[in-house]
Amino acid sequence: MGASAAWHLAREGATVVLLERDSIGAGATGHSGALIRRHYEHPVGIRLAHESLEFFERFRRHTGYDAGFVRVGFTTGARKRDVPSLKRLVALQREHGVAVKLVELDELQEIEPAMDARDLAVGLYDERAGYADPVATALGFANAARGEGAVVRERVDVRRLVRERGRIAGVRTARDTIRADRVVVAAGNWTPALLATANVRLPVRFVRGEVAVLRRPPDFGTPPGLHFDYYNDTYSRPDGTRDTLVGYMGTDPTKARLRPTPFDGTVRESTAKDLRSRLAARFPAMARAQLRGGWAGLYDVTPDLYPIVGPCGPSGLHVAVGFSGHGFKLCPSVGRLLAQAVLGNGESPALDALSLARFARRRPLRPVAPFSKGRRLP
Ligand SMILES: Cc1cc2nc3c(=O)[nH]c(=O)nc-3n(C[C@H](O)[C@H](O)[C@H](O)COP(=O)(O)OP(=O)(O)OC[C@H]3O[C@@H](n4cnc5c(N)ncnc54)[C@H](O)[C@@H]3O)c2cc1C
Repeated sequence: MGASAAWHLAREGATVVLLERDSIGAGATGHSGALIRRHYEHPVGIRLAHESLEFFERFRRHTGYDAGFVRVGFTTGARKRDVPSLKRLVALQREHGVAVKLVELDELQEIEPAMDARDLAVGLYDERAGYADPVATALGFANAARGEGAVVRERVDVRRLVRERGRIAGVRTARDTIRADRVVVAAGNWTPALLATANVRLPVRFVRGEVAVLRRPPDFGTPPGLHFDYYNDTYSRPDGTRDTLVGYMGTDPTKARLRPTPFDGTVRESTAKDLRSRLAARFPAMARAQLRGGWAGLYDVTPDLYPIVGPCGPSGLHVAVGFSGHGFKLCPSVGRLLAQAVLGNGESPALDALSLARFARRRPLRPVAPFSKGRRLP
């Protein structure tokens, strides 16, 4: 988010300094499943995801760098009782410019020959969905920002926000103070702690997300594209040519009181085996897949599972936080929104919808065509 915002701002002529405590991509971004889908249940999510997918498709043309976007398509399915909800969702997505298709089972089976779809009644297909390399994406934005005149400083730890006369005046790092009349905090899981230094409280909690990487058996055949399996609680996608990445769609509320530091980024073998057996319930040949490893990251989760983007707290301060496990794919459009907010370039319905104020006003975003039943989607 920070690198994308830096690029969007720099090409508008702003003087930009991008500060990163570690190396670019070291946070949730580098641990992302990096699925890029437009399967959202609210118009704001659908439109931002659609804009971002179009950007990923032309990432090199826009930035001069390669984000490693691979188009593999997206499928999901509904059991009989959920068919009306899926139909509503398809209608909503189509209304907002996303040409998803409702597909009968024989067509779903043609798209995904390895799938066991016997429990399903109907499927959904988005042929433009895919995945990218999240580190290459973040670095692509950062390098492109540098090319537009931004200064990119790694290994610089921002310790606090500097406030003067009720407005933001810069940031204090471990080494120096950088003065700025506008500051964007996009520090992922560390954003709430940084904002607290300017007395801004955010309704964000942390939830552990785990993924496993499986080597498909050599006789597997065509690898499945992106898939959401609501009934066995997995999302999956190919990872390179021979592996499949799989994670849980659900969020375990008992693990919701975590802190960003210290954090155990490893995945237990029992978890990887559980993910494999859930995936094999949908793609039976995956039962013979070999465990190749995995990792864990933290999701910064808001009460309505949508991020907080735009101005907050003292004048001049902006934030992008609370991506609730699905932010990577949105980074192109959210970077654009942040630049718009910082430069004061006109009204934006998306910025209104994603404002921090929505929680105080008790107007959280609610799914317009709910299908996930409260699940956090990657
Ligand atoms: C396991 C997992 C799977 C996921 N899968 C998907 C997916 O399939 N699709 C999808 O769209 N999203 C997915 N997500 C979510 C997505 O990765 C995040 O929403 C997104 O990467 C957040 O980006 P960010 O820039 O807000 O935060 P981050 O990537 O965390 O970036 C914040 C940066 O700020 C730096 N920083 C922190 N504190 C300071 C400080 N004080 N000073 C200077 N720098 C600081 C950090 O080092 C970090 O690099 C997944 C997340 C996880 C953990």
